[in-house]
Amino acid sequence: MSALRSLRLKPEAERRLRLGHSWVYANEFEGKLGALGLQAGQQVELITARGRSLGAAYVNPNVLIAGRLLHAPSDGFDVRAWLRQRIQGALAMRQRLGVAQAGRLIFGESDGLPGLVVDRYGPLLSAQLGTAGMAVLADEIADELRQINGVEALVWRNDAAGRELEGLPREVVVAFGEVVEPIWIEENGARFGISPISGQKTGWFFDQRDNRAALMPFVAGARVLDLFSYGGGWGVCSAAHGAHSALCVDSSGAALEAVQRNAKASGVGDRVSVLDADAFDACRQLRDAGERFDVVVVDPPAFIKRKKDAEAGTLAYRRINEAALKLVTDGGLIVSCSCSHHFSADALLDALNRAACALGVRLRVLRRLAQSADHPIHPGMPETEYLKGFLAEVRRP
Ligand code: SAH
Repeated sequence: MSALRSLRLKPEAERRLRLGHSWVYANEFEGKLGALGLQAGQQVELITARGRSLGAAYVNPNVLIAGRLLHAPSDGFDVRAWLRQRIQGALAMRQRLGVAQAGRLIFGESDGLPGLVVDRYGPLLSAQLGTAGMAVLADEIADELRQINGVEALVWRNDAAGRELEGLPREVVVAFGEVVEPIWIEENGARFGISPISGQKTGWFFDQRDNRAALMPFVAGARVLDLFSYGGGWGVCSAAHGAHSALCVDSSGAALEAVQRNAKASGVGDRVSVLDADAFDACRQLRDAGERFDVVVVDPPAFIKRKKDAEAGTLAYRRINEAALKLVTDGGLIVSCSCSHHFSADALLDALNRAACALGVRLRVLRRLAQSADHPIHPGMPETEYLKGFLAEVRRP
């Protein structure tokens, strides 16, 4: 094992890293990072301005987040042992939560594995290598994951947009095993067929599992509208928990085919219907048709992907919540979520409140919602907390 090259940081990066953060920005390195002849993904040692070691890290000199600290000693750093220890730790926590067969097994920085995401669907893993530093470890990671009890196949969903910035190709590759879609999982009393190769992201949004569970006590007999439904996580679960009916709205035909398949497999095909439309248009159509719902779920894609989208995105959250609130019965419920990193829970609550005030309806928040426990939050990295939501009761004057 050869010694890692040492890179010195400016003093300002140190405090954040000592408080558990992983990221080092390009301008926090002493000297010109681009001039040092570093490879994208290379492992290095980071040292403070005073020359003390902060531990092993990996770098990519071509991106803004140019270094990610691994929070492991650099002296005799054994990447394979580090990977194994972190993966086992991540797995043990999911076993404790009871989601080790279906759930997010590894959530990047929060699990001490910057840039790596792994979801499990029974025998199949669907994973993302988000950085050059993780991409160079693909074979070692695959070898470690292969050893997990019951795992038969691994798909690299390396098609996320962020890969281009890292200088990595966007592709979907089967690392080992055979993948036959759909793969069935159970969640909140319903069955879902997952397409890890052709579905969105890794195939399923486990981050909403705990929130869907929080809604289920309220849905018996309800007419439910599931906006931005994807495979019907909210709508199909609601039907399985005794909802009178669920209408799932999405602009993806493939997602709605999955909804119908999932509803049928869950024994509620007769109570779940789909509408292939833009959610904003659908709200207008439903309102014009005089439709009302006892529960409306608003779970859109991130409207604010970059900071510069903040203004337009904030307006979009307000508009969609206003459109949704118009459809809720007196005494009904709204579930309103945001998965935008750059949009705080307070900002979402404000958007919801403004929408309610504009319409003259009163809201009472019953529950605050957050990403499921298998997407843990790192207390030193606010960036790991991204999903927020509110379950609120709606009263008309
Ligand atoms: N509610 C889902 C996750 C939603 S992901 C769950 O619980 O699993 C966001 C979904 O919104 C995607 O399925 C995407 O196809 C859909 N979508 C994106 N823009 C849309 C729009 N303007 N109108 C309707 N659906 C949209």
